[in-house]
Amino acid sequence: MSKKTEAEILKEKLFYKPEHANYVCDEKEIAGADKFCVDYVKFLNACRTEREAAAYTEDLAKKQGYKEFDPHAKYKAGDRVYSVIHGKAVILCTFGKKSAANGVRILAAHIDSPRLDLKPNPLYEEDELALFKTHYYGGIKKYQWPTIPLALHGIVMKKNGEKVCVRIGDEPGDPVFVVTDLLPHLDKQQADRPMTKVIKGEELNILIGSRPFGKEKSDCAVKLNVLKILNEKYGIIEEDFLSAELEAVPAYPAVDIGFDRSLIGSYGHDDRVCAYPSVMAAFAVKKPEYTTVTVLTDKEEIGSDGNTGLQSAYLEHFIADIAAIGKAEYRDVIRNSTCLSADVNAGYDPTFGSVHDKKNAAYLNKGIVLTKYTGSGGKGSTNDANAEFVFSVRDAFDKAKVVWQTGELGKVDEGGGGTVAKYIAKLGAQVVDVGVPVLSMHAPFEVVAKADVYMAYKGFKAFLEA
Ligand code: MN
Ligand code: MN
Repeated sequence: MSKKTEAEILKEKLFYKPEHANYVCDEKEIAGADKFCVDYVKFLNACRTEREAAAYTEDLAKKQGYKEFDPHAKYKAGDRVYSVIHGKAVILCTFGKKSAANGVRILAAHIDSPRLDLKPNPLYEEDELALFKTHYYGGIKKYQWPTIPLALHGIVMKKNGEKVCVRIGDEPGDPVFVVTDLLPHLDKQQADRPMTKVIKGEELNILIGSRPFGKEKSDCAVKLNVLKILNEKYGIIEEDFLSAELEAVPAYPAVDIGFDRSLIGSYGHDDRVCAYPSVMAAFAVKKPEYTTVTVLTDKEEIGSDGNTGLQSAYLEHFIADIAAIGKAEYRDVIRNSTCLSADVNAGYDPTFGSVHDKKNAAYLNKGIVLTKYTGSGGKGSTNDANAEFVFSVRDAFDKAKVVWQTGELGKVDEGGGGTVAKYIAKLGAQVVDVGVPVLSMHAPFEVVAKADVYMAYKGFKAFLEA
């Protein structure tokens, strides 16, 4: 081996150079990352909606000894509690050795993902085809949703008050559903539409049946036949759709991608790829110094509005309860609290490299990405984490040998986006975005690297323990 030159030695000392996890981690750690992802894939396949993710997490937490939170009970260090908010968000908490007045460590990820929601009155028949009208949820590229198999998940509250859970399209043998698209032979006019209108919102209609009821011709016999089947299977009538939440999501499971199986393709990585490692990190930290609060929130994809989103006061109230239990003032707790807003960022895609500043982009396999600010229009509408707090996260990650990188959401003025970070910042806690880089974000089939998923777990755990 040739001797390093003086310049090489100096470069090693002075230059910032994030590396592929494979060059940083030993074989054992890479194998550990692959293993971690086996259970992550199970989580992905079990949890296609925020409700399912909340219920699954509650189940896991109970198995780990978490008890349902009682704001009027007494708790001691090491006690573990959970709280489910309207079935769509979850808080996991482990009481720390230090008084709550010292602040808590918050991990905040979201469990809602872009999808097609059924309209309140969705079912109709046209030209002897039965369809569902939808209203898309979150920032989707509408043209990506036709011609893929869709499953239907959610709940229906029946006239008699009974709640029916619907989950159809994922199990072998299940039928699936589909939004149709125009054939290329007849798409001359469609081809001239701008990208956002190639498929319009009102064209996202889901095909659900084509066979009429009975042998005697009657109006809407196909719709009638579908309703008859739904009535037999779920006991519902058309009016019950008014009090339902039904979400059409991709029907295929998460799978390995690549000859080397280093990647995972799935619907809903954003943001279950941060939610799952957050939960695993919360479980792993059994006797924390600071009380840990892991929140899996809903409605991030539509601006965090609504009573299960982080613009609602539910997290604030939970922390106020923790403060009261610890005989501390809420204001003291929150001003001393720190948070990782655990959300994905855009991974650098060489096919579309021009939207990124390569020096400030996040790369697959270079670990979790710390995003100091998101927003748009000159850092508008974002939390911009202060350097002191970024340092403390950097220090915790480095000490725990977490593979991590920095990354902005694209070039300046190329677009933009946001996370829940600004809502946590609004409470007064220190917060920064940290998450997994994703390719094809918000598509029905997103891509992440296994090494990064594992680093999310490792990084979140280091943060909770620091
Ligand atoms: Mn997200
Ligand atoms: Mn998103």
